[in-house]
Amino acid sequence: MTLQIKSDKLRKQTRKGKQMETEFEGTTYIVETPTCHMCGKGGTVEVPMVGFLIRQLGGLIQEAYPDLDKSLREQIITGTHPKCWEILMGGNTN
Ligand SMILES: [Zn+2]
Repeated sequence: MTLQIKSDKLRKQTRKGKQMETEFEGTTYIVETPTCHMCGKGGTVEVPMVGFLIRQLGGLIQEAYPDLDKSLREQIITGTHPKCWEILMGGNTN
C-alpha cells in the first residue's frame, strides 16, 4: 500500500522505464549453467530477476528461487540437466 506513493514518485522521475516495479517483477534472467557431467553440454535456466539479484547478494539458492523446480536449482549449481539427473538416478533403461 505504501509502495504506491513511492512508485508514483518514481514514475514521474523516470518516464523512460514506465512502471518500473511491474516491469521488474515480471522480468526473468537467463542463467548460464556449468557444463553437465553427463552429456558434456552447458545449459541455461530461466529464473526470476528478483531471485537472481538475491543470489548476487549472497542469498541461498532455495531462498532466491523458492518456486523453481528442485532439478533446475540443481542444474544452476552443478550443471547437471534434469533429464541427465533422471538417467543418473537409475532411469537408464538402455
Ligand atoms: Zn546433461
